[in-house]
Amino acid sequence: MKILISNDDGIHAPGLTALAEAASEFGEVTVVAPHRERSTAGHSLTLHKPLRIFDLGSNRFSTSGTPADCIYLGVRHILKEKPDLILSGINAGANLGTDVHYSGTVAAAREAALMNIRSYAFSLVGDRLAQHPLELSDYRNTRSAVIEVIKRTLDITFPKHTLLNINIPQAQGSPEIRVCRQGIRFYENHIEPKEDPRGRPYYWLGGRYEGFEPNDLSDCHAVEQGFVSVVPLTIDSTHSPFYDQLSTVFQPG
Ligand code: MN
Repeated sequence: MKILISNDDGIHAPGLTALAEAASEFGEVTVVAPHRERSTAGHSLTLHKPLRIFDLGSNRFSTSGTPADCIYLGVRHILKEKPDLILSGINAGANLGTDVHYSGTVAAAREAALMNIRSYAFSLVGDRLAQHPLELSDYRNTRSAVIEVIKRTLDITFPKHTLLNINIPQAQGSPEIRVCRQGIRFYENHIEPKEDPRGRPYYWLGGRYEGFEPNDLSDCHAVEQGFVSVVPLTIDSTHSPFYDQLSTVFQPG
């Protein structure tokens, strides 16, 4: 099996190393990842400036682009054929609920889903700003969960344009896996105004995580209960009941 791996934490991230190690159990691994951290890059593609590819040897490449750029370049230029599997991660921190819209980790897997390549986004739930930041050994501890999710879904034909978003809590042993729905997360809406050394104002976005909308089926809930969450995502964002409602308002004459 040919496997392409990327992430949004960059080529030097320990989570990428651990994911490549786990993936080597399934086949031949090629890594194409951003040369610097691109967390919260979302699904952006670089269309208006040049992209560079750096060949690091041993099937490892870094690019000056986003996670989605890496998949685009990895499939169409570096591999020159569709791999059997695309994996993204293992992200430093959760990609739960609505955060999938900001996540570069999920975007890399979504870019693969656009090409109808089987894809998985993996994240390790832990506080990256904590006193003890996540280390290679923390990511290596997720190996059995990563392998189990892939193994148990390998015989399933993914529906067109779908991907799996997996969040793994930091835990001893192998936590149980739960299939979940995408939850809704809340953050304190914080803007920190500051002044740069030349006296001009600048702003720092982002507040503390405040919790999630109560839903026992959500990935947010499952991870809080200590389970590995697996959410099947799709690309069509159309809201079906709203579509039906609007269709009655704008009926063709
Ligand atoms: Mn990240």
